[in-house]
Amino acid sequence: MASRTPRGAYTGSPCRSCRRPKPSRLYLCAGCWFQIPAAARRALSERGDRARAIARLRQLHDHIDAEQPLGDLEITA
Ligand SMILES: [Zn+2]
Repeated sequence: MASRTPRGAYTGSPCRSCRRPKPSRLYLCAGCWFQIPAAARRALSERGDRARAIARLRQLHDHIDAEQPLGDLEITA
């Protein structure tokens, strides 16, 4: 994974988990993303059904908002 990111990439909202700036195209900063179990990362990265993608993202956000450990995340949507 590239460690250098163009300055313009940090235009999105901060990481929902740690509040650090992150690239807008990612759900979380890399540090938080890789704390999520691989199965959940795969589910969140799936493309295709937009409604389900939104439901999965909502599960991620609910999990973080409930202050659950990222390593416990399960995506069931
Ligand atoms: Zn983070």
